Amino acid sequence: MLKNTEYKYDFFYDFGPSELKELAEEFNLASFRAKQMLQWQQKGISDFSEMTNLSVDLRTKLSESFKQCGLSLVQELKSQDSESSKLLYELHDRQRIETVLMRYRFGLSCCISSEAGCLMGCAFCASSIAGYGRKLSSGEMFAQVAQTAHLANERIRNVTVMGTGEPLNNLDALIEFLKRLHDPEYGLGISYRNMTVSTCGLIDKMLVLAAEVLPITLSISLHAPNQELREQLMPIAKLYHFDDLLAAAQEWMSRTGRRVTFEYALFKDVNDSREQAEELAGKLRGCNCHVNLIPANTVPGLDFEASPKEAVRRFQEKLGKQGVNVTLRRSLGQDVNAACGQLRRQAPNDKAEG
Ligand code: SF4
Repeated sequence: MLKNTEYKYDFFYDFGPSELKELAEEFNLASFRAKQMLQWQQKGISDFSEMTNLSVDLRTKLSESFKQCGLSLVQELKSQDSESSKLLYELHDRQRIETVLMRYRFGLSCCISSEAGCLMGCAFCASSIAGYGRKLSSGEMFAQVAQTAHLANERIRNVTVMGTGEPLNNLDALIEFLKRLHDPEYGLGISYRNMTVSTCGLIDKMLVLAAEVLPITLSISLHAPNQELREQLMPIAKLYHFDDLLAAAQEWMSRTGRRVTFEYALFKDVNDSREQAEELAGKLRGCNCHVNLIPANTVPGLDFEASPKEAVRRFQEKLGKQGVNVTLRRSLGQDVNAACGQLRRQAPNDKAEG
């Protein structure tokens, strides 16, 4: 619950081990209390009242010191097949973000937002429409995973940073978040290999992230087989040329030893023709990459329609025949508006603090 008084601190999950240690000192507590508070973060609690091994007095003191303990769950939409659900969370300044939980054969996957809104303005995406709020802190990213696991009552196996926002536009917080997620001692012990970061192609930031040498998967949103079309779909392409992006992907692979995934959302009569599949295959020939085709969701209010199944099949087949490693992403949650930004757009909070 959000409260209306003045608080010393904003968000409890922004406190990592060293801040919690300082907090324990500030409150004249034994040092093991810091560890206990950290363990509650790992468990993904949303309210101080859930910290049952702390005294009632201490829980009250914490709730008087922090504006928000965990993210406030505003809405949860479950798909009819119960395979996915979309969660709308509210932050301490009343910005709203989306998190998606998906069940796969291998376990649960959580797709988180890295910003409240997005500045990249891709023509087919709802995330830019509801307005831009701010970048999320690493604690707010971590809380999305921990609290969603708590809600599901099950461990999250895979984390993708593919929701609202451009993660590399929030690079410092992103790197801190990935390291925390991985750490078994103060995070969730999730393998780097089970983490995917998606970018619309901020080349310079990609190379900064590569220097961290984290064995995560980098997923680059391509969505077009050439510079001209990419510029029409994604304004960022005006800053970073198609050819330079492919070269940066090669650089990423040689620096990290990890293969890059190219995301390609298919839109009817925009980027789904035979010729475009051939052009894309030609550009990626010899590249040890992987192409993930996405049967796009139709976003109300935007002039893009999902490709018909036949066109999707044809595109996939064409790429495969040309030697490109290609898969089709399973389309989840059409009935819960799984494309990023749609729930936030339908339930915006016009009282968000700016
Ligand atoms: S597709 Fe990604 S980068 Fe583009 S506007 Fe949407 S959230 Fe931002």
